[in-house]
Amino acid sequence: MSEPITGITTPIRMEYRYTPGTATSLFLRAMKEGRFEGRRCPSCQKVYFPPRGGCSMCGVEFAESVPLKNTGTIATYTVVNVNFANRTVDLPYVVAEVKFDGADVTTSLLLKGVGVDEVRQGMRVEAKWIPEDEWDFSLANISHVEALDEPDAPLESYKDAI
Ligand SMILES: [Zn+2]
Repeated sequence: MSEPITGITTPIRMEYRYTPGTATSLFLRAMKEGRFEGRRCPSCQKVYFPPRGGCSMCGVEFAESVPLKNTGTIATYTVVNVNFANRTVDLPYVVAEVKFDGADVTTSLLLKGVGVDEVRQGMRVEAKWIPEDEWDFSLANISHVEALDEPDAPLESYKDAI
C-alpha cells in the first residue's frame, strides 16, 4: 500500500490591484493610525468590524463610524492541526473569532499564549499590534490576540455575534 498524499506544493501567483470603497478606506486609514473603527447599521444598529459598505442583513448603507476598544471576547475558535505552506506558527494553534468590545461581528485572529486545551468561548482577549513603525493600511497591523486576566464574558454578550 502506498503512502497517503497529505499535501502537494503548487506554485501559483496572482497579482491584483485592490481598490477599497469608502467604508474600507476609512477602516484602513484608522488601522494605519492604530485605531479600531467600526461602522453602525442605521437600521439594526449592529456594528461591523471590519466594516463593509452596508449591512448584509438589512441591505442599507452604513453612515456612522464607531470607535472600538482593543479588547474583546472569543465567541468561538478553531484549533488548527494541519499546516499549510509558508505558515510560521507551530502546530497546533488557535484561530479565534473575536468580538471586539462595541462590535457585533467577529474578526478572525491568531491566539497566542493560550494552550489549545485552555482556550474557551467567553475568554477575554486583547489585540497585540506589530511595532508602530511597521503599521500599514491593513488589519495585519494586529499580530494576534492574547488572553486578559479577566473573568470570562457571559454567553449573552457574544452569542449573537455574526
Ligand atoms: Zn442592519
